[in-house]
Amino acid sequence: MIAPFVFARNPAIQFGSGKISVLPKAVKAYGKHVLIITGAASFINSKTWAKLQDDFSNNGITWDHFTIDKEPSPSLVDECVKNFQEKNIEVVVAIGGGSVLDAGKAISAMLREKASVQLFLEGVGTRTHSGNKVPFIAVPTTSGTGSEATKNAVLSEVGEQGFKKSLRHDNFVPDLAIVDPDLTLSCPKHITAYTGMDAFTQLLESFLSTNANPMTDSLALEGLKRISASLVNCYENGKTDIGARTDMAYASLISGITLANAGLGTVHGFASTIGGYFDIPHGVICSALMGPVNNITVKSLQQKDPDNIALQKYAEVGKLFSKDKNKSDAYYIEFILTQIDELTKRLEIPKLSAFNLTGKDIDRIVTGSDNKNNPVKLSPEQMAKALEMAL
Ligand code: NAD
Repeated sequence: MIAPFVFARNPAIQFGSGKISVLPKAVKAYGKHVLIITGAASFINSKTWAKLQDDFSNNGITWDHFTIDKEPSPSLVDECVKNFQEKNIEVVVAIGGGSVLDAGKAISAMLREKASVQLFLEGVGTRTHSGNKVPFIAVPTTSGTGSEATKNAVLSEVGEQGFKKSLRHDNFVPDLAIVDPDLTLSCPKHITAYTGMDAFTQLLESFLSTNANPMTDSLALEGLKRISASLVNCYENGKTDIGARTDMAYASLISGITLANAGLGTVHGFASTIGGYFDIPHGVICSALMGPVNNITVKSLQQKDPDNIALQKYAEVGKLFSKDKNKSDAYYIEFILTQIDELTKRLEIPKLSAFNLTGKDIDRIVTGSDNKNNPVKLSPEQMAKALEMAL
């Protein structure tokens, strides 16, 4: 019997190669003056941006422009809001990686508030957001975070007292996601690797989540199928292989939908804590921890809870990645664990020690992290072991 579940709202979605062309018309549905948020370099130096500006002008659209050059902080969001609050912004459009999308999501949420975004951050502030926002269109240029489909924006203040926390409200799901894989062709190999592994982790963790439901399961499996078909091709031939880029753009979008509805596991339980203390790209943290956390999770389930459905799910994922037919569940479980380790090496994912994280940091990271919806709760000792393996 299907257990009761909730499936939250999604953005309207325009998906496919060339879809960026619908943006001017989509903006006009909301008004004539738009705030565009982009990264600092790749997109604004592209022919697509030059054409988009012509198309905006031809459609009578005027715009302000703000750039984001790192994972966003509350002060950066406040600065942008201060600059543009009085400018009658009718719609916010973010075109970029997860950092730009999250910045845009937070800015659209704060343009109608007269207070710092920090006051509304989960676990940091004390105020509850009303959900009143300026309409928001998300246009991802990486295939990784799925932020174009989620209701949260992740903001961080990195340092000894640092934090990485979400601004969250059902209304913050973007009104429209334009997912055009052409925009990801310019991603360099290392960013393709980190972000692709982030999407893989999000799909796997939401599939295994204790809060998964039949809708998230079928979506996550489809996303994982695309990862198995195309992550390596994207890494090897990402400048030209639009088929592989399209698969990864789809996998990433789906990962946002599944994570928003099923939740995530221990890898992401670590990611926000580590991301508050260290300036390490989110995708690297997730990729480096994926192998260790899944290895320890499987061993723990096999010892303590061998009938747990999560083990069958690991086998199902192993089948998607393996060419071998008619093997046992144990074979496919081992296969997917080995596959994750091999992908981590093939995609040249750095160890966390490359970013000055050392054994001395393990205790405080474990103390600040949690298992989220991991299929088994790892003990502090097991979490410490996973971290040590990722160093
Ligand atoms: P990113 O946005 O930080 O981008 C990484 C780098 O890639 C940047 O230097 C950027 O300029 C560059 N880049 C982006 N697109 C490019 C392109 N097409 N060509 C060339 N260079 C390009 O990285 P990300 O992994 O996409 O996003 C990470 C952020 O997303 C983190 O802050 C993380 O916490 C957040 N996140 C949010 C959610 C959510 O649901 N809101 C989910 C997961 C992660």
